[in-house]
This record gives sequence, C-alpha cells and structure tokens, in this order.
Amino acid sequence: MLGAAPRYDAIVVGAGIQGSFAAYHLAKRGRRALLLEQFPLPHSRGSSHGQSRIIRSTYPQPHYARAMPECYRLWAQLEAEAGVQLHRQTGLLVLGAEGSPAFGACLQSLAQHGVPRELLSAQELPRRFPGVRAYGGETAVFEPTAGVLRADKALRAVQDLFLQAGGALRDGEKVVAINPGPVVTVRTSAGVHRAGSLVITAGPWTNKLLAPLGLQLPLQPLRVSVCYWKEKVPGTYGSAAGFPCFLSLRTSQTPHDVYGLPASEYLGMVKVCYHHGCPVDPDERDREPEGSALPDIQILRGFVSRYLPGLEPEPAVVETCMYTITPDEDFVLDRHPQFSNIVIGAGFSGHGFKLAPVVGKVLCELSLGQAPGCDMEPFRIQRFPGQRRAAL
Ligand SMILES: Cc1cc2nc3c(=O)[nH]c(=O)nc-3n(C[C@H](O)[C@H](O)[C@H](O)COP(=O)(O)OP(=O)(O)OC[C@H]3O[C@@H](n4cnc5c(N)ncnc54)[C@H](O)[C@@H]3O)c2cc1C
Repeated sequence: MLGAAPRYDAIVVGAGIQGSFAAYHLAKRGRRALLLEQFPLPHSRGSSHGQSRIIRSTYPQPHYARAMPECYRLWAQLEAEAGVQLHRQTGLLVLGAEGSPAFGACLQSLAQHGVPRELLSAQELPRRFPGVRAYGGETAVFEPTAGVLRADKALRAVQDLFLQAGGALRDGEKVVAINPGPVVTVRTSAGVHRAGSLVITAGPWTNKLLAPLGLQLPLQPLRVSVCYWKEKVPGTYGSAAGFPCFLSLRTSQTPHDVYGLPASEYLGMVKVCYHHGCPVDPDERDREPEGSALPDIQILRGFVSRYLPGLEPEPAVVETCMYTITPDEDFVLDRHPQFSNIVIGAGFSGHGFKLAPVVGKVLCELSLGQAPGCDMEPFRIQRFPGQRRAAL
C-alpha cells in the first residue's frame, strides 16, 4: 500500500469540542476529513462533556477578548444550522479586589472592546444580586451579554453538522501510531488511514501522541472536581431568579479563580468550581487521589459559606473533568516544528470551550497551509524555550 493516494485531505485525532470544530470547518470547506475518537461517543472521559460552559467577553488577555465577537457569531451560526438553542444569556458577574491587576485588566479589556458592563460596589452587590456577598469587600463588574453554552448539545450539533457536510467520524477507534511524511499514515486500533495533513486535538492525551513524533510540550493534565451545591431556599440561585454566572478572581485565600453557573443541570443545585485541580495521568483519571479530602473542595467549602450564603456549604454532587494547562494558560495552536502538515491544538487550560469555533477555524486554516487571520504569537510552540525534542 506504500505510495497509495491518501483517502482523506485531513485526519483529526480527538472528537472533543476542539477537534470536532476543526473537522467541521474542514468539511465546510469541501475537504475530505476523518475525525477519530478513541472512546465510543458520547463519553465523559475528556474535557468537553457536561451540560454547561460559561461564555463571556471579560478576558484580561486581549487576544481572547478580540476573538469573542467572532466566537459569538459562529456559535449563532451553528445554532441556526443545527436548529438547536445552544446559548442562554444570563450575564456574568466578575468579583475582584479593587485595584488588583487582574480586575483592572478585565475592566480595561471590557472598555477597549466596547462590551456593555455595569460596575457594582461591595454595598450595591447584594442589592442587585441577593445571593452573592462581597465577603472580602470586593467590587464587581457585571457583563450582561455573557451566558451559558449547552456543552453536550453543542458537541453533538457540531459533530452532526460535520457528518452532514460529508465528513467521516469513527469513534471507539484509538490512534496508536502516526507516521509523518508528505502523506501522514495513522494506525488505529481498527485499521490504517492516510491523509495529506493531520490535526492533533487529543486534549489531556496530547503528549502521549506527540512523544513518538519527537515533541513534548509543557502540558499538565489536571483532574478537576465539578461540584454542585444545593440551594437552602429552592429557586433563589436559578437564572429565572436573575442569578448570573460568576467569576471570582483569585485572592490570597483562593489562589485560583472560582466560578459558578446558575442552577440548571440538577434541580436546585448550583455549579461552583475551583479553576484548578490535581495533576493526573488521563488514563488513570478515575483512580481516587491519595489523601482523604481534595484540596479544591476544601477551598470551595470556605468560598461558598463566605460568598454564597444561600447555598449549603457541602457539595451535593461531585463529578470529574480534566483540564490541560500550559504554564501561561494560553493555548497551543501551531504546526509541529519538524512536520508542517501536522497541526497541534492543545493546552486549553480550562477556558477553551467558548473559543472552540474560532480555534477550530484556526486549526483548519493551519492544516490547509493558510495563514490564520489573527495574531498567532501567543499560541506558538516556540514560546516554551525548554520544549523537549526527543530523538525520532
Ligand atoms: C469542569 C470544566 C469546566 C470548564 N468550564 C469552561 C467554561 O466555563 N468555559 C470555557 O470556555 N471552557 C471551559 N472549560 C474548558 C473546556 O471545556 C476545554 O477547554 C475543552 O473542552 C477542551 O477540549 P479538547 O477538545 O481540547 O479536549 P477533549 O474534550 O478532552 O477532547 C480530546 C479528545 O481526544 C480523544 N483522544 C485522545 N487520544 C486519542 C487517541 N489516541 N485516539 C483517538 N482519540 C483520542 C479523547 O478521547 C477526547 O475525546 C471547562 C473544562 C472543564 C473540565
């Protein structure tokens, strides 16, 4: 079979939200695309499962804030194509210490990009949002256009539209070997596929696929607890009661951000999570970490009792998800340094879902040998000076 013409223009490895959007954009451009997923779909063993993700324009980093108008436009396009409502506007409340650099950067970015916003003092906050207390005297900014994406439905919609556009999706088929070259050969648990280019969007498994390709990136998979907290009075923390999404910027007591979404997945329970977790091997995710209590849940108990007094300070449901973080929490969207027809999308650092329509477009353009229309500097592999290149 050596020298056979490739059946596909591109193969995408990993059918999470990023790979699914990359495949969708390829198929929409008339390319023959194959999307490979190791687990039977749908599954809850990566980073893209669950019913909700926050979408917001409040971003301290300008490169994400700049991408948000196009993200909102592409999400609306997907909703229209699929005929499914994927976005629910709830607003987002950002809590931060007055004068802190992170809060200042959020305010500056909102102003610079003309995003509607409302500033609230610690005294005004409980009048406007009775369920929230600015325990540490924080000020807040409210972004009314932010909201919730229905994550599981979005993932399903983008995969369905990919198939409708002529794409091929094979789940339960794990990629076990990649042979680079002008035609990339991919061996899976079920067969062999060939394509002119390859996109690797394998989430927490990315480094496992890159190692035989002579590359290791500073990607740290984290096991993250997804906690749901019961309302003391039913209905007080739902979006019908006007409770928004929120993001509480890191403080000395909570060294990473805490975020939450109005009750929707479970009746009367609010999702409140810590934006950090425990290092994990993605193949061992479900093994209980050592020690009796997870540090993130301990931190959340304290946060909920101080800032959200209308919730029971003990999580009623705890689920698991994974982040893949980079040292600067910026994504990796780049070509392999040695094999320019192998494109990598990784390190979405717990904030990549909302940006997936644009991420997928960028990965599609890179795999077609085109220059994306946005500034790619923040996403380049070269920014990691110590990136390891193993001998091939
Ligand atoms: C609890 C939680 C809350 C979050 N909240 C938000 C939020 O509010 N807003 C936001 O914007 N973002 C949020 N995120 C981040 C967002 O969900 C992720 O950035 C995004 O889902 C990453 O998608 P991915 O496609 O890179 O990874 P994944 O979803 O993990 O997809 C990678 C896929 O590759 C497959 N794969 C791996 N290896 C192979 C192989 N060898 N062969 C075949 N397939 C393979 C995996 O099985 C997996 O399906 C959150 C994440 C978590 C965990």
